Amino acid sequence: MKAGELVRTAGLGERWANVRVPYFLSEKDDRVYLVGDITGNTPFPKSGMVAYVSGTIVARQIVERLKGKPLSEIPPELPNNICYSFVDSEEAIWVSANYSWDEAAKQIKAQSAVDNQRSQANGTAAIGWATGLWNDMFGPA
Ligand SMILES: Cc1cc2nc3c(=O)[nH]c(=O)nc-3n(C[C@H](O)[C@H](O)[C@H](O)COP(=O)(O)OP(=O)(O)OC[C@H]3O[C@@H](n4cnc5c(N)ncnc54)[C@H](O)[C@@H]3O)c2cc1C
Repeated sequence: MKAGELVRTAGLGERWANVRVPYFLSEKDDRVYLVGDITGNTPFPKSGMVAYVSGTIVARQIVERLKGKPLSEIPPELPNNICYSFVDSEEAIWVSANYSWDEAAKQIKAQSAVDNQRSQANGTAAIGWATGLWNDMFGPA
């Protein structure tokens, strides 16, 4: 697997494009933000939720920069992730991960959790999660 050709054409990376963690700015070009599957040097899963949440983080950071705040004064914000899997039409299981920036160690810390006990409650939560994201991205149904 690798990022699309645009990454190589733009000189942002080879297989993937690296970011200046804990931000989403390209390591190679300060004018470029990178979110989602394209990033190479983060521990985040390549998931729809990480792409979506990272986009909202970058939007907030761009607003702060447009207001004149230097990057160094913008607190790092990292995405979280939850992946629901339906095991029949009503029951689901899930795995989640939260990420935070460890300033002392200068690295991203990951904390994960899992519920592999299938349940209707998880199924209901999965629908709620999906509806929340769809409403946010496309407007209320
Ligand atoms: C089979 C499968 C199942 C998955 N299931 C899940 C799941 O259950 N939950 C989950 O969270 N994630 C899931 N994922 C992962 C999820 O789909 C990706 O992580 C997510 O789509 C990444 O979003 P993105 O915007 O970074 O990239 P993409 O969705 O790949 O979007 C990149 C876009 O850029 C376009 N593009 C490329 N080059 C150019 C160019 N030169 N000019 C203009 N446009 C260009 C592409 O056509 C594409 O539309 C799944 C992925 C696969 C393949």
